[in-house]
Amino acid sequence: MNSKDIYEVYEILEESLKDYTIPLAEQIQVKTKKPFFVLIGTILSARTKDETTAKVCNKLFKKIKNFKDLEKIEIKKLEKLLYPVGFYKQKAEFLKKLPEVINNEFNEQIPSEIEDLIKLPGVGRKTANLVRSVAFNLPGICVDTHVHRIFNRIEFIKTENPLETEMVLRKKIPEDLWNKTNYLFVMLGQNICKPISPICRNCKINKFCNFKNKTK
Ligand code: SF4
Repeated sequence: MNSKDIYEVYEILEESLKDYTIPLAEQIQVKTKKPFFVLIGTILSARTKDETTAKVCNKLFKKIKNFKDLEKIEIKKLEKLLYPVGFYKQKAEFLKKLPEVINNEFNEQIPSEIEDLIKLPGVGRKTANLVRSVAFNLPGICVDTHVHRIFNRIEFIKTENPLETEMVLRKKIPEDLWNKTNYLFVMLGQNICKPISPICRNCKINKFCNFKNKTK
């Protein structure tokens, strides 16, 4: 894919993917409009399928609605609520540590800058970019496995890891498209440009894609 085609590609993806389920962070934002829930949902979604995380969030958000609730709940009870998300014990520890960091370092407010967000327990660049873009509607490029794989597959970039991908995409993608990047390429990756066997015949950006092993 060439840089000159980028707006057309995003437009085609937006139109062609509109009937697929939106990724979890966007679902939470639409339902709750609260950065707290987007932050918790994105921390829990690491290395876990969206369907699993969504079920846990539905249950969890009935009991945990703010940092005070997180402070009060016992860790064992929290672990039970988080099961079966991946690494639920470690994630319970992250969530238990969150209120202290938010209160002491960020004046009881969830920060919106990447450099601040990554100071929160359980938050790496991927989560930080997602919280910034989805919860605060500020520019961010969340690079997960789908974004990293597809942009390399279509030969828009040539990078070795998600961090490098994020840095290159920040230079190559116009800022007004940044916040659409994650949800469009996650939906494309989950449904069409799958990791092992992409379904290229169903792909509406096929003509822009330079992947050598396209399927028929
Ligand atoms: S044509 Fe195939 S490999 Fe290229 S983006 Fe579409 S699904 Fe992925």
